[in-house]
Amino acid sequence: MADNFDRDLDDELEFQTSKDVKVVPTFEAMNLKENLLRGIYAYGFEAPSAIQSRAISQIISGRDTIAQAQSGTGKTATFSVSMLEVIDTKVREPQAIVLSPTRELAVQIQNVIMALGDYMNVQCHAAIGGTSVGDDIKKLEQGQHIVSGTPGRVLDMIRRRNLKVRDIKMLVLDEADELLNKGFQEQIYDIYRFLPPATQVVVVSATLPRDVLEMTTKFMTDPLRILVKRDELTLEGLKQYFIAVEKEEWKFDTLCDLYDTLTITQAVIFCNTKRKVDWLAEKMKQANFTVCSMHGDMPQSERDSIMQDFRQGSSRVLISTDVWARGIDVQQVSLVINYDLPGNRENYIHRIGRSGRFGRKGVAINFVNDDDVRALRDIEQYYSTQIDEMPMNVSEML
Ligand code: ADP
Repeated sequence: MADNFDRDLDDELEFQTSKDVKVVPTFEAMNLKENLLRGIYAYGFEAPSAIQSRAISQIISGRDTIAQAQSGTGKTATFSVSMLEVIDTKVREPQAIVLSPTRELAVQIQNVIMALGDYMNVQCHAAIGGTSVGDDIKKLEQGQHIVSGTPGRVLDMIRRRNLKVRDIKMLVLDEADELLNKGFQEQIYDIYRFLPPATQVVVVSATLPRDVLEMTTKFMTDPLRILVKRDELTLEGLKQYFIAVEKEEWKFDTLCDLYDTLTITQAVIFCNTKRKVDWLAEKMKQANFTVCSMHGDMPQSERDSIMQDFRQGSSRVLISTDVWARGIDVQQVSLVINYDLPGNRENYIHRIGRSGRFGRKGVAINFVNDDDVRALRDIEQYYSTQIDEMPMNVSEML
């Protein structure tokens, strides 16, 4: 948590939705290409969500846009539809790039784009680390309209001139605050510098802290702002609880006691380090509980197969690090456990947002030892939300 946080100053600088943002109530009224509209309906969407009805038309109009809305409210579809609308599929060159912080998220976005663009003959390639560079080159040579990738691999492909940037019209930064964090920032700026000067930039996240907003002035021109207030960030259908465990050592038994609840639908358990994920997964297995686990040090092939099993529902309990905190959309997840409280406020909201997707019910349970109590109160205050002690009947809420 940022210790030097100053609430008054922060509130002052918190920006608001720009005045000229219209609400377009239906997908038809957005004047989308016929075959894109067909793809949207075939995907099962009927009416646009709040962020979609505000942001899509604006992005399509070509303006730099900053869009902030809660987890699971349709931001991915917002920029996917927008990219699909502005590309010309007759031109077999990349025309839009979307960057995201994890490989799994980049692949998920690729799948959403392909599904929504199913009737458009769209080619969308996921350029991510941990995969063969040769395959990337081959795919790009075949001609792609949209590239969804992680920063390192995309930059590499641009530098090698396998990803041609001449026709790029739009750059989307999903989970932008994460992408503009120290770890990625330089790569993002480097990618941006390679793109044509007129490239439209779209910045998206559920959380956009002030320092990140300030950074956007470096690469955005008079951006349109569409956002929800911070105290509306916690989702309505999502209940948040804590369990006071006093000592760290007691968390494990608490988790075992909850196991039946975890498997009612699907659950994600967050730990703060890869080592702890390994340790907890091992200990759960030794105690004869079925769990799977995933973190960034695992080979990509293993990450892929764990994602696949979890998406299909053949595994129900996943233990992970913050590699899973952002963006991943598995609708069956209705429970998130913070075995450890996250190291920053933003990831709290992203983690708990893995459940309660698109207005579904969800529950988040925070394990707090004596040292965590302050941090939990801080989160509660920051998001103006209430985190109560977990009631006995929690399984009825899933
Ligand atoms: P976000 O990016 O804001 O976290 P997503 O775009 O992943 O949210 O959307 C969350 C879930 O809601 C996804 O499963 C998505 O398919 C679904 N969804 C998005 N927009 C709509 C819509 N207009 N109608 C119905 N479902 C939607």
